[in-house]
Amino acid sequence: MSIIVQKFGGSSVADAECIKRVANRVVETKRKGHQVVTVVSAMGDSTDHLIDLAKQVSKNPSVREMDMLLSTGEQVSISLLAMAIHALGEPVISLTGPQAGIKTDGVFSKARIMDITSSRLEKELDEGKIVIVAGFQGITIDNDITTLGRGGSDTTAVALAAALKAEICEIYTDVDGVYTTDPRLVKNAKKLNTITYDEMLELASLGAQVLQPRSVEFGKIHKVKIHVRSSFNHEEGTIVQEVSDMENDIVVSGVAFDKKSVRFTVYDVPDRPGVAKDIFKTLADKSINVDMIVQISREGSLNDITFTLDRDQMEEALRVMKEVIVKIGAKDVTCDDDVAKVSIVGAGMITNFGVAADMFDALAEEKINIELISTSEIKISVLVRKDQCEKAVRKLIDKFDLAEDSIKSIE
Ligand code: ADP
Ligand code: ASP
Ligand code: MG
Repeated sequence: MSIIVQKFGGSSVADAECIKRVANRVVETKRKGHQVVTVVSAMGDSTDHLIDLAKQVSKNPSVREMDMLLSTGEQVSISLLAMAIHALGEPVISLTGPQAGIKTDGVFSKARIMDITSSRLEKELDEGKIVIVAGFQGITIDNDITTLGRGGSDTTAVALAAALKAEICEIYTDVDGVYTTDPRLVKNAKKLNTITYDEMLELASLGAQVLQPRSVEFGKIHKVKIHVRSSFNHEEGTIVQEVSDMENDIVVSGVAFDKKSVRFTVYDVPDRPGVAKDIFKTLADKSINVDMIVQISREGSLNDITFTLDRDQMEEALRVMKEVIVKIGAKDVTCDDDVAKVSIVGAGMITNFGVAADMFDALAEEKINIELISTSEIKISVLVRKDQCEKAVRKLIDKFDLAEDSIKSIE
């Protein structure tokens, strides 16, 4: 019997009615003759509410206790979903991440799955039960509960699909699939029937929230077929797989944007070997992830170094950088969070020249100033002022022909 892993995000289990609808959908899949493992996120915005609560009791909550707290959100939804499925007459059991055998490293708040011991899951499936697993969580070798970073239930689902050699991993969400850009921003963005793992990984890493980047990485490594689709209808969504039907004729597949980028500039950095190492190794040692990096040569023996990172790490990075500038003898460091990163992604860029020129041309037409540029084989990112982000995305959707003719409605 084939195994199907289904994941339902927070908006799909936001209230009792939603949970009952998900229960019906899960039972429907089981009754078609599949073994079903269902991963769920916390209800609606409950993870955000838990984070707010923590901030009310402590300015700087311990990361271990944060994971202890946040993991409870998913435990609420698994038990409620199991009750709703039970009420429909199907055998079912809910399991937390640890009970499902999900072992992680010890990096609280962004732990990585190291291993899945699937014996309990297999036993329950063999007994004919639907198994509901709490997303976003696991357990360390020392028995501490961890969480996998925001959006981590996607990764739980894909990792379980890999461990159980499932036929498919279905990610049910509040949009009909993966679009050429966020359909909430551009109402006539086009839905993609297929997308490659590489393109999806870039889009997700560059700000498209629809899948957690780590889940796509997992999918690619373990060749898990991922189907992103709506939990509110039965339309086909988007298949994430190795080769995309569109790969050959489409140069740019999508536009991503990230309003959480922060720009750091270090002024008057002495021009000698080892300074870049001092800056970026110190940041890396604190698990601060740096993104775009540009060094601007000035006259004499001084440079300015500019880079971007995520706003969540801004305060810590600033603290670290204030110490680093003293060590390397730089003049000053500033940070600016009034910026956004806008990126175009497409596997077809490798073989098509002039895509960057087309992108810059489009932005120039809108009089949008580009502050930083970074490229890889299949993406080009630019940093712009935050208030120009939406204009830039719309223009690029237009320029690369990524809009649908008719405007759809979104739940
Ligand atoms: P869930 O709660 O189901 O995990 P998320 O909010 O994490 O859902 O992800 C779904 C959201 O991702 C959509 O509501 C949409 O606004 C956003 N999104 C951003 N970029 C894209 C894209 N390119 N295609 C589809 N959705 C996108
Ligand atoms: N509940 C977690 C979050 O809000 C995990 C998830 O939804 O995937 O980030
Ligand atoms: Mg999500």
